[in-house]
Amino acid sequence: MPINTNIPSTFRVKTKKILSLIILCVLMFSTSSLIQSTSKDHIIYIQPLGSVDSESLMYLKKSVEDFYGYECSIKTKLELTNDILSKSKTRYDANKILSKYNSNINLLLITEKDIAYKKSNQFPEWGIFGLGLRPGKTCVVSTFRLKRKVTKQQMLIRLKKVALHEIGHNLGLSHCKNNKECMMNDADGTIKQVDREKIWFCEKCWGQIKKLN
Ligand SMILES: [Zn+2]
Ligand SMILES: [Zn+2]
Repeated sequence: MPINTNIPSTFRVKTKKILSLIILCVLMFSTSSLIQSTSKDHIIYIQPLGSVDSESLMYLKKSVEDFYGYECSIKTKLELTNDILSKSKTRYDANKILSKYNSNINLLLITEKDIAYKKSNQFPEWGIFGLGLRPGKTCVVSTFRLKRKVTKQQMLIRLKKVALHEIGHNLGLSHCKNNKECMMNDADGTIKQVDREKIWFCEKCWGQIKKLN
């Protein structure tokens, strides 16, 4: 028995075409949202806290993109507020900054102001170059201690190393004891260590990043 004899064959073809178009659209939609959600994980937002010169911001953006292959996007600056000041009110508390701005997007905060954290009871406000959650999505860097006695170019190289180090913590890396030239060494507030490092992760640290992510 012939099927659907009352429906013209061209109509059947058209219906099929429309149906496959709808399926294609649904597929395209789900694929594009998948790409979107994947790529969102690979964007790092650079958030200036207070005024940060645009050369440093652009340099930081390029450094992170070149090293990690992330896309970076610079956000409009936010003002530094009193709630993130340290106890002495002379500098900003890095842990307070991380708690305040911690979110589910990758965020690299940068400030020109001095930042500190509680190292011990003896050093309740230990000045630092940067701090990052491990693992996590938020880290903060400060240029305050990086620009002492050096040219702008040297300061930028230090900034690059500190930022790549803090993002390394976000990606799950702990401090490196394997090679003194690896960027994941604990600088412990010593600029000499930062200067000793190369723009480089030792094999052990790279291996750990690949295992963790
Ligand atoms: Zn560290
Ligand atoms: Zn290492």
